[in-house]
Formats: sequence, structure tokens, C-alpha cells
Amino acid sequence: MKKITIIIPAYNEEETLEKLYDRLSKVLNEITNYEFEMLFINDGSKDKTKEILKELREKDNRVSYVNFSRNFGKETAMMAGMDYAKGDAVVFIDADLQDPPELIPELIKYWEQGYDDVYAKRRSRKGETFIKKFTSKMYYKILQSLTRVEIQKDTGDFRLLDIRCVNALRKMRESQRCSKSMFSWIGYNKKEVLFDRDPRVAGTTKWNYKKLVDLAIDGITSFTTSPLRISTYLSIPTFLTLFIYFIYVIIKCIVQDVPMQAFQAIILICLFFFGTIILLIGIIGEYLGRIFNETKNRPLYFVDDYNGEKERND
Ligand code: UDP
Ligand code: MG
Repeated sequence: MKKITIIIPAYNEEETLEKLYDRLSKVLNEITNYEFEMLFINDGSKDKTKEILKELREKDNRVSYVNFSRNFGKETAMMAGMDYAKGDAVVFIDADLQDPPELIPELIKYWEQGYDDVYAKRRSRKGETFIKKFTSKMYYKILQSLTRVEIQKDTGDFRLLDIRCVNALRKMRESQRCSKSMFSWIGYNKKEVLFDRDPRVAGTTKWNYKKLVDLAIDGITSFTTSPLRISTYLSIPTFLTLFIYFIYVIIKCIVQDVPMQAFQAIILICLFFFGTIILLIGIIGEYLGRIFNETKNRPLYFVDDYNGEKERND
């Protein structure tokens, strides 16, 4: 019998876990021709998440969990989920029931038809602010305009991946991760399924705008080097202006036979060029930082215990 691993990253989700377990197991119980594993990644929660997961496993042996040694972030939790998954396919789902488990049978149906990456696309986003919707739309637009790889719009991490995709992603162990673009980057046969995204059932979002902006910047810089090209494009008009201005000043001096007077203008121009240089250095710094982080080649995460057994890290 084929096995499917449901991967659930959870960070301070004590209020939602039981609700999720109830709804998820109800769905899974109805699908009899597959074996299931519910793999929770406890991303260093400070609440009762750990204890609840232990209880769930005692009750139901389909449940397994990985406790991180601290909070590493959702992207890393998803990576750990793929490392520990034992299934022939995995399904990523949020712990807060914003992704309806009832959609899983449909995801499986398309997997059986031969698709490797069945992703759930949001038809609507209930309970999200206008600003969040707008920023996310703009982000997709920018990301797409920077790359030739097709990015799925209005798609989160809720999706089913065949083991082939999982193995591909297991090989991509960079530390500044943006799964969204990685899912696109690996390719394979993709299929879209529409759904309505519900508001969170309980608890509060673990995201804030800083995290979102960080994710957006990581997404763009890890995916494409086109921001580096901005500096090239910017430098062309800069040097043109410089050249034209010098010609203008020299000709003016010769024709009117006066010494250069425009020291104020020169100060302004200096400021402008300093500004440009700082901007360019900033862009280079962005990439330098990435190289620095990748060359450290650290493990992406450490696991405290797997199903209650302490990991020795050897
Ligand atoms: N999450 C995580 N680590 C974090 C932040 C979030 O594992 O550092 C999990 C969280 O428990 C939830 C999922 O990622 O299952 C999505 O988080 P959230 O609902 O807070 O994000 P939103 O839906 O608002 O984008
Ligand atoms: Mg959520």
C-alpha cells in the first residue's frame, strides 16, 4: 500500500492542534486505500505544543513528530518534514486549518493521474487584510517579472508532492529558503486545484511584516541575480550624465572665457553620485551576505527528539 506523509509545521499552535487532528483524521479515515503518516514539526514552540503532540502520538500511531531545538522558521520546518517523511508523497498543510484537509482526496486523485506537484490555489482569502492581499499580489508580480521560471500565483505551501519532487528538494539545502520559488524551480508535472482559504481557527498569525519582507527579499535574491543587474542599468545613465555635464561645463568655460563657477552644482552632483554608490554597495552587500551564509555550510537545523527519542546528532 502506498504511504502519504502529511507534513505539519507548528509553532506555538496549542490552540489549533487538536482541532486540526480531529478534522484531518476524519478526512484520512475515509481514505482506505492508502497508509498515512501525520508528521508534525514542532518549530521550537514555547507553549504546550510539544506535550500535545506527545499525547496525540500515544493515542494514534500514525502521528509522529520532530521537536526542533529552537525556532528555525517554517521554511526550515518544511525541509525537516521532507527529511523525516516516509511516504511516497507528502502533503504540506498549515496547523491553523487555513488549508482545508478536505481537499486532500482531490490532491491525491490528481497524483494518481500522474501529476507530481498538485498545488492548491486560493480562490479567496478570507480574514486577511487588504494590505496583506495587495502586498502579496505585488510580490508575485515582481518575482515573476524577474525570472523566466513560472511562479504559481496565489499559491501557498499547501500542496502534494511526489517523492521525486521531495528528493529533488532534499538536495537543495541552501539556508535562506523560499519554498515557493523552489517548488517552481524544480519543475515536474504541475496541476492546480482551487480552494477557499479560511481564516485561522484559533491563535494568532506567527508572521509579521518584517518576516514577510525578509521572505520576499530572500525569495528574490535566492531566485535570480537580476537585482545585480539594476546596478549595471543604473550606472549607464549615471555615466552618461557625468559625461554630458563635463562636456557642457568645459565648452561653457571656453566660450565665455570664465573659470568654473558652479561649485554648488558640483556639490549636489557629488551627493547624487555618493548616493548611487551607496545603493550599489548595498546590492553587492546583499549578495555578499548570501555567499557568507552559504559558505558556512551549516546544517539547516538540529532536532531535539524524534517521536520522543533524543537525537544524538551523529
Ligand atoms: N510556523 C512555523 N514556524 C514559524 C512560523 C510559523 O512552523 O516560525 C507554522 C505555523 O505553526 C503554521 C504555519 O507555519 O502552521 C503558517 O503560519 P501562520 O498561520 O502563522 O502564517 P499565515 O497563515 O498567517 O501566513
Ligand atoms: Mg495561517
